[in-house]
Amino acid sequence: MKLDEHLEEISIKLAKRVDTKSCFACGTCVAACPVSRLIGSDNYHPRRVVKATLEGEATRLLEEPALWFCTSCHACLEHCPQKVPVSELIQDLQNLASSLGITPDDIVSEVENILTSGWALAPSEQANKTREKLGLQPIPIDERSSNDLQTIAKVTELLKRLDTIKQRKLKEAETQNAIEEEGEA
Ligand code: SF4
Ligand code: SF4
Repeated sequence: MKLDEHLEEISIKLAKRVDTKSCFACGTCVAACPVSRLIGSDNYHPRRVVKATLEGEATRLLEEPALWFCTSCHACLEHCPQKVPVSELIQDLQNLASSLGITPDDIVSEVENILTSGWALAPSEQANKTREKLGLQPIPIDERSSNDLQTIAKVTELLKRLDTIKQRKLKEAETQNAIEEEGEA
């Protein structure tokens, strides 16, 4: 199956998750969304995800960095009078994007930090320097959690997915280099 056909099939499957009559475009999901409130609804608008899904065009959102602004707080779902699974649709799209290797660098490095340190918020070099100045020990790597997480990442194929993302970025960089070399020639 070609990628376009695969994406179309997924778009149809996503649309089936929402009853077309259920969303009456009230905008409550946007009003409830902390990200929309923080950065403005022009920059982040969960209702548009629902609209695109209902129109069978959700996959066009895959390349949009805003897809990753969602914090998965589920406030949209909780406040929606129709219980439209807005946040779950966004997670489906994030999942689809990452399976195709489309994931922002900061998300990838956060995941890698968690896997290697065992901490949800990995201790930064700066934090450890500050601790040293205060006469405190550096925050230790949580080896046991890290090992467990590495095993989970392997079994759930997260490591494979991280590899797909890296391969895609490598290809993009190679294409960019080739374009630049051609321009200089
Ligand atoms: S998804 Fe729910 S809250 Fe959002 S516009 Fe539709 S009905 Fe309103
Ligand atoms: S789950 Fe995402 S889209 Fe929904 S309210 Fe939270 S940040 Fe906004």
